[in-house]
Amino acid sequence: MFFNNPSSPIDNTITGTPRPTASPPISPGTPGTPGTPGGSDPPGAERPNPIDTGWPTGRTPSFEVLAAGFTAYDPRVDMIEVNQALSYGYDTETAEFYVMTSFAARKDTAVFIAFSEPIANEIYLTSYLTVECNGKLLGYMLPFTATDDYTLHFQPRDLSGVGNWEQGGYTFRLFIDDVEAAMRTANFFDTISMTVLAIPVRTIYRGQISSCSGTWRDSMEWLTASFPIARSNVQYILGPELDLTDRQYDLSTEQGMVNAWYALRGRQTPDNDYTAIVGFIRDRVGEEGRTLGWTCGIPASFVSEAASSMAAVVPHEVAHCYLVGDEYEGGSLHVALNVPPYGMRGHDIITRMSAVALNSNVVDGFSVGVDGTGSYIYPQQRPYWAGGWKHLGPVTSYMGGGIPGVGTESFWTSSEVWNHLFKMFTGFSGASDGPLYSGTCPNCLYTITDPNMACQCSACGYLTYVGKDDRTSTCAECGNIDEILWSNYFLECMGCKFFIAYDWFYDINADPLEMPNYMESSSFRTLHIRGRVDTSGAFTPSPWFTYDVSTNRTKIKTSGEYSIYFYDSGGNRVSFSYHDIDFIMQSNIDGELSNRTTETAFLDFSVVYPENAARIVIRKGDREIYSVDISNVTPQVSFTGLSNYDFLGDEVTLTWEASGATDDLYFEIWYCPAMGQLLSVASNVTGRSLTVDLSSYPGTDKGYFIIYATDGVMTGENTSPIIRVQFKAPIILLEQSHLREYKITEAIRMEPRIYDLQDGWLLGNFFDYEDSQVIWWLDGVRYQDFSELMLFPYYLEPEVYVFTLSATNSAGLTTTKNFIITILDDDSDLPDDWSREGIELSLYLGGVLPLDRLDAPVTRGDYADLISTQYGSFRFFASGMDPYDPRPFNPFPDFVEGVITDATNDWDLISWFVPVILGVMDAPDGIFHPIGTMTELEAAVALYRISALALDDPSILDPNASDEAIINWYIMYEIIDTAGPNAFNGSEKLTNRLAMVRYGRFVQFVVVNYLL
Ligand SMILES: [Zn+2]
Ligand SMILES: [Zn+2]
Ligand SMILES: [Zn+2]
Repeated sequence: MFFNNPSSPIDNTITGTPRPTASPPISPGTPGTPGTPGGSDPPGAERPNPIDTGWPTGRTPSFEVLAAGFTAYDPRVDMIEVNQALSYGYDTETAEFYVMTSFAARKDTAVFIAFSEPIANEIYLTSYLTVECNGKLLGYMLPFTATDDYTLHFQPRDLSGVGNWEQGGYTFRLFIDDVEAAMRTANFFDTISMTVLAIPVRTIYRGQISSCSGTWRDSMEWLTASFPIARSNVQYILGPELDLTDRQYDLSTEQGMVNAWYALRGRQTPDNDYTAIVGFIRDRVGEEGRTLGWTCGIPASFVSEAASSMAAVVPHEVAHCYLVGDEYEGGSLHVALNVPPYGMRGHDIITRMSAVALNSNVVDGFSVGVDGTGSYIYPQQRPYWAGGWKHLGPVTSYMGGGIPGVGTESFWTSSEVWNHLFKMFTGFSGASDGPLYSGTCPNCLYTITDPNMACQCSACGYLTYVGKDDRTSTCAECGNIDEILWSNYFLECMGCKFFIAYDWFYDINADPLEMPNYMESSSFRTLHIRGRVDTSGAFTPSPWFTYDVSTNRTKIKTSGEYSIYFYDSGGNRVSFSYHDIDFIMQSNIDGELSNRTTETAFLDFSVVYPENAARIVIRKGDREIYSVDISNVTPQVSFTGLSNYDFLGDEVTLTWEASGATDDLYFEIWYCPAMGQLLSVASNVTGRSLTVDLSSYPGTDKGYFIIYATDGVMTGENTSPIIRVQFKAPIILLEQSHLREYKITEAIRMEPRIYDLQDGWLLGNFFDYEDSQVIWWLDGVRYQDFSELMLFPYYLEPEVYVFTLSATNSAGLTTTKNFIITILDDDSDLPDDWSREGIELSLYLGGVLPLDRLDAPVTRGDYADLISTQYGSFRFFASGMDPYDPRPFNPFPDFVEGVITDATNDWDLISWFVPVILGVMDAPDGIFHPIGTMTELEAAVALYRISALALDDPSILDPNASDEAIINWYIMYEIIDTAGPNAFNGSEKLTNRLAMVRYGRFVQFVVVNYLL
């Protein structure tokens, strides 16, 4: 271990030195029943999900084993549990547990070993777990801790030690005393990525205006924690503030809440770039001031910072976007997907018909004494938050609700929701040959195979069934002949009964490169028909906009309460479609979720815009409720007063000129700070100017605005000149309150979140000193280049330290924040015997081995790490600098090259490489084996020789000395004793205790006698 090596001192993966004693806290509710779950199941049995038809179509796994395999060679081992949220699923049909087998790549993962009998100390001390990916050894782990008497916990601190859990087929082998005791295979799959827009909302409540306090920024954790998706696959954008302080948004009224939802939903881009949009408000709202959140449908929802489970609302809402149902009375249930607790009533999330849950195997939290309406997650399933290293107490599904005061960590994923989302996240891509006719319905998630296909008539809008090989379609109603195109081709879903635009289906089910060549992708002209309708049918239009979108997401029903007709100038119908509207608002009142029928609802449909349309009619049943004649003039619009590369401050007044069939034009303005990023600035603007507050928008040196102008239907658009907008400094989200006092023997590990409006979430880069965006400073001296603070404080005096975190974005703007860390003069974790002094000395000199494994044999990996540190320190000393300064120096010796181990942790590669290349440790066949033990003789000689090579002065240490001479030297200088516990036993395995004692005495002797 090099001084301040950012991974080694507390990396549990490979070096294992030492186990952090700071975390994780084991919650009192930890399940302790050994071996009960999954015991009777065939290992790795995949249980059918009610709507599951097997693995996603089109998948071609790149590795062999699909089902998890578990084999125990030692009867004491019940199971190797791979846990990304739960170890076991709950089969709601049979009420049995089964082993979870759905794992996302690049996600925090723990491995628990369930034993059938209490774990003896010698098992704890001699157990290790090897990790292989696709047959290649990545590394090994020592137990992090015993979760309880029956369970060992393994988990890598640093994911680089396990190849970052990249997609592949993993094999875990448990060794006890160097004998393989059990093995388990598990496959990790890459997932889609998703983009979630989190927006702080400025609100009005009975005339009172308020903005968010800032806690909303910390709302992302539970989404990535409880979803089968890697954190790196979630773009969680902290968006610009939405101002809803106009009277129409007064949140003390239901109408204000509906209006606000509609405005939030308007942040969705024309191309539906955001999976979900979450608006955060500061306080409780609603008529009685008790509402903590609400939604009128996907993808937008509100949640208050005052909600004790704020962060759990995010996965709830995003799961809805994948048609996961509610688990509370009156909610939108999806009985076949996530079975709600027995007796729960609501309406079906897809059909809107009334629905009731009839499976008595599913109980809610309240019926077992846990505060939650959602389905109960059994402790035997081992709910575990791997990213937080935390066993969760009693939990219920986050699709349910709780009571006030119940915190985020009381809500978790059920196995049904996890498995469903896993399929959604991994199943949408696959190879296909030509046209694709099986996959998942994007509207209802039904698995479609060999559907009926239809073509929409360009003359009358009628859908006519066509064969899959047809290239043209003859309309069954008007006889018009159409060429079958990407834009008029639909498939009939038997799940939701909608005809789904083939483009949409294809977009989520197929590889875009495999598009059938007789169709050409293009953009689609769609019309967003919007307005407010009340229960009597009275309709008030909002301005409609036309957009060119890249995916046709149209769905057509053949019946529905509302219908939209397009007519040409001759009065002929050219298109029509049926729709339904929900007059429902779901709200969360003091933790109780409820559905309320609203007086008005928003009609909001995207339809393909036929080119020859001249008139649009909306009907409710047979009754016409609205009609509009379409002008044949496309509005012209352009920004005025902006020139290329104008620099804009926080407040800017945009002006434009526009003309059209009428002067009553409406405008919508978007801001594009960088390629692919589109943020709403304002919608439904009238007039010809707007003052915009850009203070919460990303800065840019090459951005632009887009403006749309509509006369109600006809829409023109234009972009601004290239503009520059003031860059914003990064935001450090770590609070001082998260830091505390540490024992001097305790590893400190802090992982702050740092968000930058321009660059996203910042991590820093410890491999690139010049470019690191995140730096920790100690007393003004650069200490560490990564957002995570990793520190083993033994060599610091016990006192109060001020650490400063600085974050710099790509624009060069820096934010700093100070943190006070108290290091206590508490070394009670050190052994209370003869070895104490030597171990203290070793720690002081940077020789860190696991303090709770002192009597376990030192591993070759740990020992290599230890003596590499020594090599680096002596070489550093030789260059005239203080070797005991804990602050960093370049940890990369300049001669490191090549690879001599098959492990992948870069840091450990170096520390293992050094002893091998110097010839003091062996690597048979070019592969360094970190697993395994060393004899006292091997270890003593290796430490002596590597130090001799570093000092390069035979008058101090002679690199050519014989083994015998070296041992005599150790004994002569009382580094090894002639009798007692530190006496030399050359063929015995060296323990961690002896390794630390001898290391400490050795280094001290050399330094005091030769180097000072
Ligand atoms: Zn819900
Ligand atoms: Zn027709
Ligand atoms: Zn469907």
